[in-house]
Amino acid sequence: MTSSPIVVQVVVDKPLAQGFDYLWDVKDLGLEPQVGQLVEVPFGRSTIVGLVIKVSAHSDYSVDKLKSVAQVCPLSPLDAATLRLMNFASQYYIHGLGETIIPSIPKMWRKAADWTKNFSKIHQSASKKTNKKVAAPLEADGYISETQLNKVQTAALGELRKKEAQEFTCFLLQGQTGSGKTAVYLNWLQTVLEEPNSQALILVPEINLTPQLERRVRAYFPHKKMVVLHSGVSENKRGLAWYEAAAGKAQIILGTRLAALTPLPNLRAIVVDEEHDSSYKQQDGIRYSARDLAVWRAHDLKIPIVLVSATPSLETWLAGKSGRYQHLRLDQRAQGAGLPKVNLINTKDARNQFSPGDEDRPIEKISLSKPLVNAVRESLANKKQSLILINRRGFAPVISCNACSWLSKCHQCSSYLVMHKAGALGRKASLSCHHCGLMRPVPSSCPDCGNVDLKPLGQGTQKLEDAIASLWSSARVLRIDTDSSRTSKGAEALFQEIHNGSADIVVGTQMIAKGHDYQNIGLVAVLDADSRLFSQDFRAPERLFAQLVQVAGRAGRASRDGEDGGNIYIETQFPDAAVFQYLLKHDVDGFLSYIAGEREEAKLPPFTYQGLVHAEAKSLEKSLHFLGSLKGRLKDAGLITKDLQVYDPVPRSMMKIAGSERAQLVVESSDRRTLQDALEWIDRDLREISQGRISKGSKVRWLIERDPISI
Ligand code: ADP
Ligand code: ZN
Ligand code: ZN
Repeated sequence: MTSSPIVVQVVVDKPLAQGFDYLWDVKDLGLEPQVGQLVEVPFGRSTIVGLVIKVSAHSDYSVDKLKSVAQVCPLSPLDAATLRLMNFASQYYIHGLGETIIPSIPKMWRKAADWTKNFSKIHQSASKKTNKKVAAPLEADGYISETQLNKVQTAALGELRKKEAQEFTCFLLQGQTGSGKTAVYLNWLQTVLEEPNSQALILVPEINLTPQLERRVRAYFPHKKMVVLHSGVSENKRGLAWYEAAAGKAQIILGTRLAALTPLPNLRAIVVDEEHDSSYKQQDGIRYSARDLAVWRAHDLKIPIVLVSATPSLETWLAGKSGRYQHLRLDQRAQGAGLPKVNLINTKDARNQFSPGDEDRPIEKISLSKPLVNAVRESLANKKQSLILINRRGFAPVISCNACSWLSKCHQCSSYLVMHKAGALGRKASLSCHHCGLMRPVPSSCPDCGNVDLKPLGQGTQKLEDAIASLWSSARVLRIDTDSSRTSKGAEALFQEIHNGSADIVVGTQMIAKGHDYQNIGLVAVLDADSRLFSQDFRAPERLFAQLVQVAGRAGRASRDGEDGGNIYIETQFPDAAVFQYLLKHDVDGFLSYIAGEREEAKLPPFTYQGLVHAEAKSLEKSLHFLGSLKGRLKDAGLITKDLQVYDPVPRSMMKIAGSERAQLVVESSDRRTLQDALEWIDRDLREISQGRISKGSKVRWLIERDPISI
């Protein structure tokens, strides 16, 4: 008599809606099957790594046609909570389960041929562990003990501690840069981690933030095992760190968004620092929000989570206001430093520009405003550092009139029209609305004043960097951008130069302003805020405001009680814009409440929910046509109702990427469920006409995105 065969269902990293059945031969494999087990299975003509999601005694397919699992990974199976998280992510973000799980596992464990070798490596490194001498916490590493906390910090810590039992609470810890938020959550985690084996997850936005924070966290937990997970960590190190986290050997997991899906069997608390930061959004593959998944995870596990920010995202802030999240505030700078003074320089005011007769006019021709040049001069004379920010990468193709400040606005909705340059095949330059799909020809002159010099906002800042270096040629000018600091080590070395005072003027992108505790900054200048003020993306002002607050936080960070908090200079054509006016008053809540009003009126997120269907093909026409026919099918199916808006397909702002042209379709509903159902319908519909994610015939690659953060 033969016993009934064991069948396992396995998901793989392919754009497929379902898993595959395989036979499990206990005698051959040497162990019983378990859900969560990583396995190697035959696939097509080769083999592939997959994950067991179901074990049963029968298959819908004929058992003798099934192939067998080839090999089992020696790691323990993924735990049930992690699988719940993966299932949720897969459903919510409309992405295959296998495509969600497998890429979340470090490469080191995705190659079956290396399993045995890598597994024995782990054991060697575990047995090699010696008793390292534990250094006492150093003030230099930013260690502030509980007794050193100020009154407001102590109160916030008290609130956090009230809820540390097995209970879900989402806290919003809001306080301006330097108000001591990090000191509060690290003291809180100290209590949480008193329980043996318990784990805490700290998410941070950028790689360049981690080295400094890493030292600081270590200072709080000299006796705990900590691992760091971000894209700058080598594959092998990451594979090892992931293993230590998943096996419960590491207590503190500090990482960027990619750490959000790490299996953590004893997870007791989560912190999401700078929760508003857009880098929490994954921008390829499964387009998840690491912050949102972290909140879901905390809820699922019934543990507390703290979202930390000086400028919370509108979503989080509204949840804090409504009481859904517990709102904690730190309202003063921890060391009593004053707030920086915000100076708006109206670049359209002739008095702010140098004129030929000015004695103090620089010899070089430079487009910097007079107040700014003088401020940098003064800062140099006072031996203080100046940070000058240029955002060369984010260039908004919204066009404006230099003479009267006319902007290319959409008259159908509240969005701005974006310029698309003339393309091949005689396609004319056009303006398009990325929200509602309206298309217009580019006007040859300003509709308001007739001026013919219409330009995309923010153009012309590219050359400023060189101009600054030649203007202050005797000063030590340091440039920092993503290219000069690809690796975390490179960035750290550059930041060190700022810290030790070997630079007088630092020119760079926003990244120089992030999370760094500089001690001698007297002035921060922002040169191209306007290009981010008006954008096709309705979240642009919110993002700009957050960046400016953060930038301002760098100024005067080291000043003590009574001293002024440094200066921030912003050059703009639009000094009356809400972003600047609220910044002037340091009024974060006022700004958010203003933005909330605007969004509610325009029926934009978070007052409505959005999904995006991306299409990418050899030609824009193909991409647009693909989305157009999808819209047609939605209409035919009767799905486009007053509860579900489906707009017209439009080109993406970054339309061309490596030989393919991209377009998008916005799907919107004020009801989450309605949107979810529609996106699932679209997923099924597109899968039917596709091979994987590429449509048969027209060869259009597609992807569905839930809760896009930029459109
Ligand atoms: P945030 O996270 O809000 O930006 P931090 O916790 O990083 O603030 O604190 C800002 C600076 O002030 C850090 O250098 C930190 O070490 C210091 N600091 C924080 N709390 C205190 C305190 N109670 N007394 C003295 N210094 C503090
Ligand atoms: Zn005009
Ligand atoms: Zn529009």
